[in-house]
Amino acid sequence: MITLVKNANVFNPEPLGNRDILIAGQKIAALEADLTVTGIPNLTVFDAKGATVTPGLVDGHVHLIGGGGEGGFATRTPEVLLSSLIRGGVTTVAGLLGTDCTTRHVASLYAKTKGLNIEGVTAYMFTGGYPVPSPVATGGIREDILFMDTVIGLKTAVSDHRSSHPTTDELARAVSEARTAGLTAGKAGCVVVHLGGSKAGFAPLRDLLEKTDIPIRQFIPTHVNRTENLFEEALAWTRDGGFIDLTAGINPQRGARGSVKVSEAVARCLKEGCDLSRICVSSDANGSIPVFDENGAITGVGVAGFDPLLSELRDMCAHEKLPLEIALLPFTKAAANALGLSGNKGTLSAGMDADFLLLDETLNLTHMMAKGKMLMENQELLVKGTFET
Ligand SMILES: [Zn+2]
Repeated sequence: MITLVKNANVFNPEPLGNRDILIAGQKIAALEADLTVTGIPNLTVFDAKGATVTPGLVDGHVHLIGGGGEGGFATRTPEVLLSSLIRGGVTTVAGLLGTDCTTRHVASLYAKTKGLNIEGVTAYMFTGGYPVPSPVATGGIREDILFMDTVIGLKTAVSDHRSSHPTTDELARAVSEARTAGLTAGKAGCVVVHLGGSKAGFAPLRDLLEKTDIPIRQFIPTHVNRTENLFEEALAWTRDGGFIDLTAGINPQRGARGSVKVSEAVARCLKEGCDLSRICVSSDANGSIPVFDENGAITGVGVAGFDPLLSELRDMCAHEKLPLEIALLPFTKAAANALGLSGNKGTLSAGMDADFLLLDETLNLTHMMAKGKMLMENQELLVKGTFET
């Protein structure tokens, strides 16, 4: 299928101005000013006049098969539906397990990524979960990354009462396996590290860097905006060359007391001279949001969604006055970079996957194309998940 998108105001995320985009199959064939295409039967021409065109969002932390259940079995959160990814503007997603690695499995997550790839978006995943030794689907971390096509790295957890409190050696061994397998398989082999609310903060990762020669860029510490102290440590981490991942739904206005709102966090990173190509924002969608009191007793459980992604993007522009090309980075180019996907995802140019969004003047999502196929037009879903009505 060949589509020509005319008159797009393209942010790559760099502002390119008025461009036409020629899409052949799943790829961008050309992105030029004033393209003329003749002689192609059944060419679909789409006029994007007045719209802002951006790369589709790359969301590196999603509980694709649900998560949590910290409030008992009735609080197991549901699977992600294709329609919620589309409405959230997410064209590339990376799934992972969370607190519950006992009744939820790496193999089920793998099946989910395969299903989403068929349904129309691009889905990857991390093996592992909270504990070390990591839960895996095949023989081990190395085998999962080497032999499972959608597995790009490892997930683990530290500095959290729900983690397995791995020693530095245990953690180093797991990370080295992910790194080695990544090198062998030509994948990122990156390690998403859930950082909890304990006062240890980044200390387990700092210890590991001190005692080994594993490069800092192997890690993607996540939820680093959950407290002011953790965010300060994250700023130091990224100044030292590491990636950090901010969670869009962690927001003092949404009940996360003492947290740093993502739009403000990104503005602060910029003000402090941090390299925005290493700062990512993810949704943590379909993860549970347990609320604990000061005694560690659970007082409530919510479910995260995708909406905070685009709403934080809008806040970065409207409240923090960041230019759109800067505000887009953590959701697109930086996230693709962290996940080792920048050859196909996160930016718009010839040869990249045809994954993009059309936003109106208030940055509301109106259209989405993923892998060369329109999934949303004028805010109407053109495609739904297999069993969605
Ligand atoms: Zn999570």
